[in-house]
Amino acid sequence: MNSRSLMMTVLIAVSLMLTNCFVPVSSTESTTSGPAKATGNTSPDAGKPPPAIYGLQDSLVACSGCSNELLTAKTTGILNAMDALKAFTGTDMQLSPKPVTFHLSGDQVCGSYAQGLTGDYTDNGNQPQICLFDAEKKNRALAFTPENAVLPADQLLPAHEALHVWFHGRISDYNIQEPFCKITSFIIAGTSGIVKNETCGFFHDSPGPDRLMYDLCKLGMDTEKVSLTLKQTAAAADSAGRPLTSSEFAGLVTSVLGQDATPAFRRAALIP
Ligand SMILES: [Zn+2]
Repeated sequence: MNSRSLMMTVLIAVSLMLTNCFVPVSSTESTTSGPAKATGNTSPDAGKPPPAIYGLQDSLVACSGCSNELLTAKTTGILNAMDALKAFTGTDMQLSPKPVTFHLSGDQVCGSYAQGLTGDYTDNGNQPQICLFDAEKKNRALAFTPENAVLPADQLLPAHEALHVWFHGRISDYNIQEPFCKITSFIIAGTSGIVKNETCGFFHDSPGPDRLMYDLCKLGMDTEKVSLTLKQTAAAADSAGRPLTSSEFAGLVTSVLGQDATPAFRRAALIP
């Protein structure tokens, strides 16, 4: 789940190159699944196809080597997690002219799997791509079977990466996104052994994105307040029509916690 800048750059470049030519069609066995319906507003303009507007629930799932049974199970699991994410954050991602595509295996968008890869997202604003490498990965918590793939516990990484996409247009700084993606994915996946308000145990006082949540937890950040923070972030950014600055976000968290959160953001070097 850690961002790998080099790989991200490569993936963004590949994604940009493929923006106009990648079509996740079912030309080979079990390539994609999931609804491809267009929702939302459509333009009545004659002569131009109306822009299709997609939300998290319209996500596609692609896998080049999965059985139909496995692809169907994982698609159900992912779409259920997208529902849970929307409920938890109170809103959808900012609607996109292309659906989010989850790639379960290495392909022309994600590149080949390399040992140690967990997952990644690329988000150029109009074609979100999430690479999971489920088909190749050896370090999955659960074996990649139809029985497991449908479970909430198997959606830790899809929920984490989808929240990065959700942040697009709302919060730009990866180091702010990351701890919120991490704690939210634990909550959505209902990871075994974690109950409400115990997710803070996963954050340590170490350099990097963990430090912010470690400090916010000490100020009372819990499941309910993470949800409230995300709901208010979406409302504020969508209303402003631009991402919140790090200082604005620190102010929002301060208001949610009822305690000054700016020292935590400062200690994590996120605000001056
Ligand atoms: Zn992440």
